[in-house]
Amino acid sequence: MPYTSKTAALTAPRTFSLIERTIPMVAPDHVVVRIAATAVCHTDLGIYKGAYANLKYPVVMGHESTGVVEAAGDTVSHLKRGDPVIINPIISCGHCDMCQRDMQNLCRNAGLFGREVDGSLAELVHVAAKYAHPLPADIALDDATLIETLATVKHAQDRLGIKAGESVVVLGQGTTGLLHTQLAALAGANPVIAISRTRWKLDMATRMGAHHALDVSAEKALSEVMRLTGNHGADVVIDTAGGAATLQAAIDMIKPGGRLSPYAVSHECCTTFTTFPLYFKEISIIGSRALHPTDMAPSIDLVRAGKIDVKGFVSGTFPLGKTPEAFKAYEGNSNGVLRLVIDSRAS
Ligand SMILES: [Zn+2]
Ligand SMILES: [Zn+2]
Repeated sequence: MPYTSKTAALTAPRTFSLIERTIPMVAPDHVVVRIAATAVCHTDLGIYKGAYANLKYPVVMGHESTGVVEAAGDTVSHLKRGDPVIINPIISCGHCDMCQRDMQNLCRNAGLFGREVDGSLAELVHVAAKYAHPLPADIALDDATLIETLATVKHAQDRLGIKAGESVVVLGQGTTGLLHTQLAALAGANPVIAISRTRWKLDMATRMGAHHALDVSAEKALSEVMRLTGNHGADVVIDTAGGAATLQAAIDMIKPGGRLSPYAVSHECCTTFTTFPLYFKEISIIGSRALHPTDMAPSIDLVRAGKIDVKGFVSGTFPLGKTPEAFKAYEGNSNGVLRLVIDSRAS
């Protein structure tokens, strides 16, 4: 029997329709997942506000998603009914040159589960089983939604190759900034310098391993970063805030031979500075996009082992039927929220 699933569909910017959808019988290499929790992030806020030009409505958002396997297809061997899972939302085509080179996060035809492909603001989803990763039973499914974000952060830090004893500055202490701070501290970086204008986020950063938490804008942090790094500058600067002014500040505080992660997704034109410092200090700019499928299992393990703490990021929870209210609240206070969770188990 096919399933029916209550679904929150975005039919136009800032407009939801709560509908019943039919979920097909499980395909042999797919699973049907009964969604537990979906965390809402800035990407969702952009979709909600209509910032993506080529969206095809209705859009079912939700890409930071956990749940429990309701049915597994005949050829699925790594999951069975009842298993808790997290979904890797980076959908790749499998046949382009990037996929052929095992770089699925750079797929030429990539789509995001929850934007180009229907996501998890629903009771049930039908996804290829390769995108569903088993979770340990002892991680709460709302906190576990953070593991998707952690995997993108881990992907960036693996590319940066942070070594013990290196100095790392993390600009911005929202969800991704806090996870970057934790992961850098775990890598043995010292000092890890967290920068934010929000006191409670700095307190969280300190709890999560930052050696210094500076309540100052990135543009005004240079002298303190220089002081804390013995006037050398930082080995690594990770920009989770984005924008020209922050990027300029990042370049200024990197030591010669250092690395820059422009981690934040930003479309702002940078017209106020030249590339000269990149030449003069031989700075490496290391981009990173989304996550690779192989980032998921190690990220789950980091949380399972208690090395990365994903508790305390959920600022509020709304039942699926209150999705419009959740987005309204988020838009009204996006800086005061780390993650809102939509609970598909509640109506
Ligand atoms: Zn997200
Ligand atoms: Zn591809």
